[in-house]
Amino acid sequence: MPGAHVKTGSFAGKRRAAGVGPVRRIAEELRAQNERFAAAVENMSHGLCMFDADERMIICNHNYIDLFRLDAKVMKPGIRFFDILQHSVDIGIASQSAEELYAVRKPYIDGAKPSTYEEALADGRIIVISHRPLASGGWVSIYEDVTVQRRAEKELKEQHRRFDAALANMSQGLLMYDAGGKMIVRNQRFLELYNVAAADFPFGTTHRDALKRLLELGIYTKIDVDSEVAKTEACLRAGQMHSTYRYLADGRTFLVVRQPMSGGGWVVTFDDVTERRRTEERMTHLAHHDTLTNLPNRSMFREKLDQALGEAKPLAILSLDLDRFKAVNDTFGHPAGDWLLKCVAKRLQQAVRSSKDVVARFGGDEFAIIQSGIKSAAGAEKLAKRIVEIVGKPYRDKGREMHVGVSLGIALYPGDGHDADTLLTNADMALYRGKSEGRNVYRFFEQGMDALMRERRALEADLEAALSRREFELDFQPILDIGSGKIVGAEALMRWRSRSRGLVSPENFIAAAEETGLIVQLGDWALRKACNVAANWPPEMRMAVNVSAAQIKSGGFARSVISALAFSGLPANRLELEITETVMMDESDAVLKTLSQLRGLGVRIALDDFGTGYSSLGYLRRFPVDKIKIDRSFIRDLDKRDTAAIVRTVIRLGAELGITVTAEGVETEAQLDMLRKAGCGEAQGFLIGVPAKASDIGRLLRSQAQLRQSG
Ligand code: C2E
Ligand code: MG
Ligand code: MG
Repeated sequence: MPGAHVKTGSFAGKRRAAGVGPVRRIAEELRAQNERFAAAVENMSHGLCMFDADERMIICNHNYIDLFRLDAKVMKPGIRFFDILQHSVDIGIASQSAEELYAVRKPYIDGAKPSTYEEALADGRIIVISHRPLASGGWVSIYEDVTVQRRAEKELKEQHRRFDAALANMSQGLLMYDAGGKMIVRNQRFLELYNVAAADFPFGTTHRDALKRLLELGIYTKIDVDSEVAKTEACLRAGQMHSTYRYLADGRTFLVVRQPMSGGGWVVTFDDVTERRRTEERMTHLAHHDTLTNLPNRSMFREKLDQALGEAKPLAILSLDLDRFKAVNDTFGHPAGDWLLKCVAKRLQQAVRSSKDVVARFGGDEFAIIQSGIKSAAGAEKLAKRIVEIVGKPYRDKGREMHVGVSLGIALYPGDGHDADTLLTNADMALYRGKSEGRNVYRFFEQGMDALMRERRALEADLEAALSRREFELDFQPILDIGSGKIVGAEALMRWRSRSRGLVSPENFIAAAEETGLIVQLGDWALRKACNVAANWPPEMRMAVNVSAAQIKSGGFARSVISALAFSGLPANRLELEITETVMMDESDAVLKTLSQLRGLGVRIALDDFGTGYSSLGYLRRFPVDKIKIDRSFIRDLDKRDTAAIVRTVIRLGAELGITVTAEGVETEAQLDMLRKAGCGEAQGFLIGVPAKASDIGRLLRSQAQLRQSG
């Protein structure tokens, strides 16, 4: 402190006494200087205290007094340094004794050496003291309260320590680059993640260097350093966060996130997301694939189809539906059904030739294929033929042999439609047509098919209205007991006298009624009506009623039969329910349970159209029936040797099992003759009687009774 050696107080007075003129001017100047000095000392932000060679205080400022909370009355110029120390001890501000404090200072006072040291006060504050010797032998001390500063420093240090700890314990790797693009922070996890040494990535490394190094070490394989660096720079310029996936040569995936910092530079974090990515991939796979067969599902198929259509090259959509799959499920159980579906999936994949072709499962036994790269319909036809053949081959598992068939509908792009929806609908329409014509076939979509479909819808709508309009009737066809020559029963056959369509044969409306579910009500009506009619017939006459699979499946069928019997008063054993194989084939144990329940009540069960189905004999084993009705196609061909042999065998089989055998569609005496000789129990057909009104049958029965009486 320049000029600090000046003694205040008495100094100005001495000069004033020295004389006049210039002396007085000098004295004035000195006084002014003194005032300026005092003001400066008073206004400085630090505490200040000046001592002379005798260790007596010359001057101190208010800051000093305030800093040590000293008593201003005690702190008069002339007080000894030691007494100030003692005073500070007395007022409890010092944390050591006056002697100890003095001992610290003494060597510097005596040695006239400058020094700086800290003193901790009893109240926790920290004061930095600069000791500066003066030429005159005294010294000046400057005091500064650094408590806040020290605390901030300590906090900063702690923050650093925490930052380091966090950095070291992060699950992510982290690098920090400064504004000049040089690496200034790198945590241990970064080295671990990449399995590299610190020496490979020293501080000061640039982003470009780091990428190059990772390439050299074979950790990254395909990466364009220039474009990566350019990308980073672009997003740093934009001040945007940027994240990207990095695929390591060892198969791992890292998520790398770059975050620009406000003061320039950026932070990069590295996350090993291999597992997460795999899980995500699995999830998307699951969302797009059928879990059983692992084939693409409908949504994936749609996606692929849209993609393929985008290329605008000819292709075929094949819509597939398995035939007789239900029977496999019912006979062998669901695990076997699942196994078979997986086999079918494999066979379909083998059947397609190109890896670009897509085989999908839509659920149940429905599959679909996109066949791309075809030149004409012939290409699709070839594939369809191959599929019918491959899928139709037997499936062998654990000594069991299972059979299914497949029906296909084919729609071609661009001929049959331009968008996915139209093509799929048209392929389905073709499939639907194929199925209705017989199984194990493929059908191409034809323009007329939608017209047919519309016609079918119109028919269904008409049918719906027909029941309430009482447009249905029942005809009855007599059944002859060949041995006795007597009519022993009749079959109820439904007729639809439509206002707009005229008389419609069941052949043309039963399937539609089954499709819409109307058959349940319609069948119920037929059952009641037939029972009511039969109740008025002689007691030896049975009534046969045709029943659809849909009726039995609908539930409540047994109740419906019982109520028809109860209301009509017809004994149960005079009612015969005619079922076709599809009833046995299509449904589960519930259907068989319903049938055996009815059989338990005495109702008879007849297997209709025997021989036309898939494996009639197998069904005989599943469910015991009371009657077999040999389909009229066999009777028509009775003059053929093979057919005659089959019919004779069935008749013998029936005899052995105790099952009545009825021949359907008997039109000639020759046929009846042959059947009689073969031992066939019953005959039905135009020869015996065409389907007729109940009143006609009543008349026939009366004349038969008269004949018997007179005979
Ligand atoms: P289905 O049960 O096999 O009935 C015998 C069919 O053969 C009847 O045809 C009958 O008219 C016909 N038919 C009888 N004798 C002869 C013959 O000597 N020669 C020829 N060519 N045909 C003969 P329809 O009445 O047209 O019935 C056809 C089919 O419709 C029935 O076949 C039956 O499956 C079904 N159906 C009829 N009524 C009902 C019903 O109420 N409910 C259900 N679910 N199906 C019915
Ligand atoms: Mg029938
Ligand atoms: Mg029949």
